Amino acid sequence: MKEEIADNLRELRGRIVEACEEYDRDANDITIVAITKSHPAASIRMAVAAGIRNIGESRVQEAEPKINEVGRIARFHMVGHLQTNKVKKAVQLFDVIQSLDSYRLAEEIDRHARDIERVIECYIEVNASGAIQKYGVPPEKTLELIKRVNNLENISLNGLMTVGPLTEDRDEIRRVFKICHKLFKKGRDIVGTKFDTLSMGMTDDFELGVAEGANMIRIGTGIFGPREA
Ligand SMILES: *Cc1c(COP(=O)(O)O)cnc(C)c1O
Repeated sequence: MKEEIADNLRELRGRIVEACEEYDRDANDITIVAITKSHPAASIRMAVAAGIRNIGESRVQEAEPKINEVGRIARFHMVGHLQTNKVKKAVQLFDVIQSLDSYRLAEEIDRHARDIERVIECYIEVNASGAIQKYGVPPEKTLELIKRVNNLENISLNGLMTVGPLTEDRDEIRRVFKICHKLFKKGRDIVGTKFDTLSMGMTDDFELGVAEGANMIRIGTGIFGPREA
């Protein structure tokens, strides 16, 4: 298992280098977040041993025992939908919340972060494909949300996250990623240079994320193999 993860990471890094050559990007600018949902705490340890510094989880209940088991050996990112009743736990467990998609959620995060005297790093999740089953704020509401969240003292707003549309149509995925890149640049004009992360691309579409300006990609299957349903 350990060898497999290390091999997969080597292959992934090769794919990142190729994509960066193709799209004129610097591979050193691309941060990998290894998504360990549905994999055991041991997988987190193995990924860290293979050089990973950022770990992502999508459910608070699943992440809590795993993070408590391994300790703070990486930066932990929350990438799944966050319910307000899980925020208190989330601000204790995670370094970054990538799935901020409403002002109401932002207020909860801000309040609980203040209670424990923390400033928590957040990215706003954009739903640029318009898919109704998906979480995230629509593009036309993103800049307004950025402005409002930027005023909250216990949130540091550092970027945007998006999940590409579930389609084989590469042009459609790129179109959606392009919208997010534009919003990212506008967000930077509002927040300033600390708004520096565009989290965009997963195992099957990260090359398109790289093509459209992503500097963070979230990889599960490509590192740990397929998840059980
Ligand atoms: C599961 C998940 C990923 C990783 O997906 P893979 O296709 O396995 O790379 C990335 N981002 C989010 C938000 C996820 O839920």
